[in-house]
Amino acid sequence: MENWQIGVFTSVGAGLGLDLDLAGAMGLPTIQLHAPPLGQRDQASADKILATLAPYGISITAVFGGFEGESYETIPAVVETVGLMPEETRQKRLQEMFEISDFAKMIGCDVVALHLGFVPHDTTDPAYQDIVAVTQQLCQHAAGNGQAVHLETGQETAEGLVTFISDTKCDNLFVNFDPANMILYGAGEPIEAVEKIGKLIKSVHCKDAKWAGKPGEEWGEETKLGDGDVGMKAFLQTLQKIGYTGPLTIEREIPQTPEKQQAEIGHAVDLLKQLKEDLL
Ligand code: MG
Repeated sequence: MENWQIGVFTSVGAGLGLDLDLAGAMGLPTIQLHAPPLGQRDQASADKILATLAPYGISITAVFGGFEGESYETIPAVVETVGLMPEETRQKRLQEMFEISDFAKMIGCDVVALHLGFVPHDTTDPAYQDIVAVTQQLCQHAAGNGQAVHLETGQETAEGLVTFISDTKCDNLFVNFDPANMILYGAGEPIEAVEKIGKLIKSVHCKDAKWAGKPGEEWGEETKLGDGDVGMKAFLQTLQKIGYTGPLTIEREIPQTPEKQQAEIGHAVDLLKQLKEDLL
């Protein structure tokens, strides 16, 4: 397979990412897919999605889990609502992730991904041991489906993430690296983080952002690819350095302004094509 296949983050009916048909019309070889909502993760939905993608020859490189009630409005909202960390919804969401993994199998995809939420930084915190155990259960279920689990970056520092993955002792647990999230959450300089996480990076989001005035307390600002503080050329050069050859998945989640979203994704495709030509 060609190195660094360009792709885009898409969804069906989940209100995130680009619409599947629009992705097809852009002529891209790969997509990541946000899992359909509860009640639509069945073989009929999988077949419908596969039928939509078939004429375009698109392959799905990861299925992302997401849950009702998650909010990315502010950093405290993320702590309270996102991923498998909030205790009240943890077991229910774990069951949903099992279902999403089963759905990914139906659609022929060997990667499931998610935001775990804010993992405690203190590894002696009992809540840390709890999330390690929950992640092990998820990885075990995914392994039964022949899948890897990719953790979306952002909430943890590079060191925190590497320690966490090592503590789970799961050999099918890897990283979906999102350089913009490192900036948005104030979790560390993204290029350095790529070097620290290295071989554990098995998928990436091509997304850009500007640092907040008070990183870690306030949100940074997401931008069009190339306009933020990531430095896309340095990002790709560093991926090259660590031997990353997987897909480059563009993420631009502004579905409330679909025309702008499409135009900016088009711009990102052009930018990545140019950088690939320069670097490969
Ligand atoms: Mg992302």
